[in-house]
Amino acid sequence: MYQTISVTRNPNPAIKPAADAKLGFGQIFTDHMFTMDYVEGKGWIEPRIVPYAPICLDPSAMVFHYGQAIFEGLKAYRQPDGSVALFRPRLNFERVNQSNARMVIPQVDPDFCVHALKTLLRLEADWVPSAPGTSLYIRPFIIATDPCLGVRPAHTYKFLIILSPSGVYYPKGIDPVDIYVENEYVRAVKGGTGFAKTPGNYAASLISQAKAYAAGFVQVLWLDGVHRRYIEEVGSMNVFFVIDGIVVTPRLNGSILPGITRRTVLELAATLGYQTEERQLDINELWADAKAGKVSEVFGSGTAAVISPVGKLKYGDDSITFNNGAIGQLSQLFYDTITGVQFGRQPDKLGWMEKI
Ligand SMILES: *Cc1c(COP(=O)(O)O)cnc(C)c1O
Repeated sequence: MYQTISVTRNPNPAIKPAADAKLGFGQIFTDHMFTMDYVEGKGWIEPRIVPYAPICLDPSAMVFHYGQAIFEGLKAYRQPDGSVALFRPRLNFERVNQSNARMVIPQVDPDFCVHALKTLLRLEADWVPSAPGTSLYIRPFIIATDPCLGVRPAHTYKFLIILSPSGVYYPKGIDPVDIYVENEYVRAVKGGTGFAKTPGNYAASLISQAKAYAAGFVQVLWLDGVHRRYIEEVGSMNVFFVIDGIVVTPRLNGSILPGITRRTVLELAATLGYQTEERQLDINELWADAKAGKVSEVFGSGTAAVISPVGKLKYGDDSITFNNGAIGQLSQLFYDTITGVQFGRQPDKLGWMEKI
């Protein structure tokens, strides 16, 4: 049996956004959050659902100084029958433990976390939006809370889950984005924290994002930190190429985040009869293949966008447009199938969905 989750109801629930409101992303939060604390010697204690509110931390709390923290991102989807379902949620909490292990944060029980999330969602079910393409974004995270400036793993932590109704990712339909190959900064290196979902990776990537925006691009394609040659990710998504009809993505090598959408695309592609490859991908070979017309599609994969097609790629002074800047056939197929299953429009043949 799981530890009992106590519930303190919010006496002042907010007015929910109207059905046709523009929700944006991550700007509105629901009435309640889940939280529990870790105390060395006691483990994870006092799991509880409480009103959504600011949390009080000592200014010396370790997370502020040394960034010992991890986070996750997943969504709850309104189903045609009005119920609410999650997409492969256990994988997110298994990944919490992979991230925790790297950041020396104590392990959590993934089954208990899924149970806690479902308990929170049942209380907040009315916050799951119903307009086509909208969903409730879920952000679990863990922070080190010891009030101490010593550099060491903390003895106390806080785990929270907050919820945010979010709008359609592509309000005007899927529009392929322009990307440039980043050859100045790197996101992660082997032996570093690239495979962990930890805030510092994002802090380190902001400079490239700013550089990309200033140059008129939406995101960057990251190369490996040692050779600046092997393709890793695109923005904060995993990256796929369709080369000679084969669905290719960089092999997980320690500096690449093991995306759940990445795994889903690979499994789906195989199920649909496409050949897939996870391998080291040299940007120069990719460039030559693309010049020779062998690369028919490029796309990013991640929970927020699901599939984000790349229209144009710039590398140094050269640039290549893929599929005439339009979304490719396979990108569209993966997008339609995955979102179809998530929103209950298509049968869930591979058992990805979990009702709350
Ligand atoms: C979260 C994340 C992804 C995508 O993972 P999903 O589980 O598919 O959402 C890819 N790259 C980075 C750096 C990430 O943080």
